[in-house]
Amino acid sequence: MSLERVSIYVHIPFCARRCAYCDFNTYAWRGGIVRDTLEAIRLSVENVDEPGDIVVPTIFFGGGTPSFPDPELIVRILDAIRSRFRVLPDAEVSVEVNPGTADRARYSLLRQAGFNRLSMGVQAFDDRLLKALGRIHTANEALRAYETARQVGFENINIDLMFALPDQNIQQWQKTLRTAVSLQPEHISCYALTVEPGTPFFRMHQEGLLNLPDEETDLRMYRYAIRALTRAGYEHYEISNFARPGYRCRHNMVYWRNEEYLGFGPGAVSYRRGVRWKAISNPRRFVQAVRNGSSLVEEQECLDANASLGETIMLMLRLRDGVDVPAVEARYGVRLAERYARQIGKLQRLRLLEVTPDRWRITAKGLPVANSICAEFLA
Ligand code: SF4
Repeated sequence: MSLERVSIYVHIPFCARRCAYCDFNTYAWRGGIVRDTLEAIRLSVENVDEPGDIVVPTIFFGGGTPSFPDPELIVRILDAIRSRFRVLPDAEVSVEVNPGTADRARYSLLRQAGFNRLSMGVQAFDDRLLKALGRIHTANEALRAYETARQVGFENINIDLMFALPDQNIQQWQKTLRTAVSLQPEHISCYALTVEPGTPFFRMHQEGLLNLPDEETDLRMYRYAIRALTRAGYEHYEISNFARPGYRCRHNMVYWRNEEYLGFGPGAVSYRRGVRWKAISNPRRFVQAVRNGSSLVEEQECLDANASLGETIMLMLRLRDGVDVPAVEARYGVRLAERYARQIGKLQRLRLLEVTPDRWRITAKGLPVANSICAEFLA
């Protein structure tokens, strides 16, 4: 029996309060549904059919806010994963935390239970901006949460930051980056705010109430982040992600290489053997389906080799190492230069893509329009 490497994602769809920009599948938590959902997630792990041929290199608990009022329930899910799957001894086991719902006992329990990487949603070290975003913590609370995480033994910490925020200027962004760097986390993510339909920010934007930085400022902020973080010793290894050597997020690398993963929890996505499916998003319906033993699949899509290849190129282009041409050719049995001659010809002419026989990489000029470049390969 050959073993397959399959990562695991667990979605905890609850937060203390929803942030004004958030379009994730998450709900402000109330009462028994939280406990019921976490129990149902654990049961859905225990009920997995025949996981014997799977080894698990990475696990990621995201959300939502898994740094939860009752972390025991999170630990029970992790224990269920360990007893149902062969988790590799050196597996990366991450948990997302919100600095507003964290304390020493909680962090300590998560660390003791085997979580070895913490991803902290800080977004900005600026109280006015945090308030505008609807975050439940202050900059000082984020600093304290970070210190606490270190003290209880987390040696691999990511800090999530956002830029191009309403009324944010370049100096504020520089200060946020300086503070983040001064903490010396192993990993920093920097995402530009996107205003998503259905969010309070979207409505405010339509009513002209959101004073967003213009495109040029947005670009300056992004370029500044690249300069400042690489100068501070971080590798810019993905469009929005920076890591100290040896600390790339192994779980996200699975996504960017279009490798396989199983998702547990409401709305969690899985991708295995060319099929992608999404679990029921609504927590109540998810719990009901687990209790009834009925299907948890809300949506399913079968990807043929061509669609899968296009997605692999698109995702790998996000990596600064770019597309590993020989590896992708071996995986799909195609000559990439022939299959994508039109796209690479055009992108090379525009100096957006650097092409060698072994690698395709987005150039520095191409980075600000990376999403459009990646989309070229989906057609
Ligand atoms: S904490 Fe994260 S998941 Fe929860 S509402 Fe805010 S942005 Fe969304």
